[in-house]
Amino acid sequence: MMENSLTVYNSKSRKKEVFEPIHEGRVGMYVCGPTVYSEVHLGNVRTFVSFDVIYRYLLYLGYKVRYVRNITDVGHLTDRGEDKVSARAKLEQLEPMELVQKYSNMFHEMMSIFNTKSPSVEPRATGHLIEQIEMVKDIMKNGYAYEKNGSVYFDTLKFNDNYKSYGKLSGRKIDELFSETRDDLKNQDEKKHPSDFAIWMKASDEHIMKWNSPWSVGFPGWHLECSVMSTKYLGKTFDIHGGGNDLKFPHHENEIAQNVGCTGVEPAKYWLHTNMLLMNGKKMSKSDGNTISPYELFSGDSPHVSKGYSPMVVKFFMLQSHYRSTMDLTDNALQAAEKGYSKLMDAAKALDKMEHPGKGNDTDANKKLLASVNGIIADMDDDFNTPKALAGIFELVNFINKLKAGHIRYSDITFDTFDKLKSTFIKFVYDIFGLKDEAGGVKDNNSIDGVVQLLITIRNEARANKDWSTSDLIRDKLMELGIQLKDGKEGTSWSKI
Ligand code: AMP
Ligand code: ZN
Repeated sequence: MMENSLTVYNSKSRKKEVFEPIHEGRVGMYVCGPTVYSEVHLGNVRTFVSFDVIYRYLLYLGYKVRYVRNITDVGHLTDRGEDKVSARAKLEQLEPMELVQKYSNMFHEMMSIFNTKSPSVEPRATGHLIEQIEMVKDIMKNGYAYEKNGSVYFDTLKFNDNYKSYGKLSGRKIDELFSETRDDLKNQDEKKHPSDFAIWMKASDEHIMKWNSPWSVGFPGWHLECSVMSTKYLGKTFDIHGGGNDLKFPHHENEIAQNVGCTGVEPAKYWLHTNMLLMNGKKMSKSDGNTISPYELFSGDSPHVSKGYSPMVVKFFMLQSHYRSTMDLTDNALQAAEKGYSKLMDAAKALDKMEHPGKGNDTDANKKLLASVNGIIADMDDDFNTPKALAGIFELVNFINKLKAGHIRYSDITFDTFDKLKSTFIKFVYDIFGLKDEAGGVKDNNSIDGVVQLLITIRNEARANKDWSTSDLIRDKLMELGIQLKDGKEGTSWSKI
């Protein structure tokens, strides 16, 4: 265990701190999960991949980690105050829970395409209504919430008078705050102060997702669910709370206020926030067309890219930015990432076959190699600096290639250093970065190619006969199997996703 060499940037204190878990050897980590009302976008993927690497690195350090990532299926409202899930369910003519299941499945599929580990607990907000109602009661009992017309509001002024901490995480001052919570714009006049926010909302007659409570038939506030689910599974104080930095305010600020208002203590010791994904230098946004879905990126079916990129290339590209920096997706950067990824995988395969004959000498080359290997661990210990660690991995790639070409001899390095090189390299590439070799077994597998080509021919015939249901069925079923068809000028090609 290398516990105290890890430092993390705590958004709360705005500085790097030595990571000291509350309970020795164990880490509790909560990450705000997706709101499952539409397909997961690349920005979400960036955040979840970042926390996956953090989770994997904590495991590598030897911690026993309980990683909780929720599913938001109620209470996240649109700008017009409509529940995102029920609004979309109406559009798709589905039962809200059917919609939730559909997009949860798609989310899980995407997480598996990107080879991320499942969290230890994945609680759903609608499965924790009783606990949410209990927390509202406790906050009211402590005097930090009040009821008005069946809704319950958090009293930010009273809370701040006592704890002097509201707005500390996001750097906002309560006097200047006009409520940006958007969860209750219709009911501003029910609040004592504009920065107060709803923790329980009375539902209108047409509102579908609603539950009985002591105050009204209604639904919980979005912020409340994370306060409840994090502390239910991790205890009233836990180690790491994460999410994208767009969640700092109001979501995380209000989570802190609720937990403190309920238990008197802050929920998380370290707050970690990922930065946003950009495309061609601008925020990736659906409304102005500056967006690309993961599947479009894999198939190349988008004006923003010249070709398709495999999920592992996209993941490699993501690792090249630090989680606290913005990440700019461009076609050029992806092309470079594709070359880098394949160079990395070639070196991993070559290293796997290499054996040190034993003994060897502690030469300058040996010292340099050992320093590079240790440097990678130090980079990850420095607030999970994946771009620096990746640069260090490429020093090793160069070394491996020299060794393979005979420019460096086994006798120039000791057996122990070689052993450390091998284990560290393999651990970082596969276990910590979570990359995998996707080319292997697919391109060379003639029988898969033969079967897919046959299906492409049948699909082409179906399309010529305007039998769209058969052609869609073939495409969709292959997609479920991880095989993506791409229609282009030169016919249909396929790739494994
Ligand atoms: P949501 O499904 O919108 O609740 O978001 C799920 C997670 O993705 C949250 O942690 C967000 O902060 C994060 N997220 C949303 N948009 C982006 C983006 N463009 N770049 C990075 N992370 C994002
Ligand atoms: Zn949350």
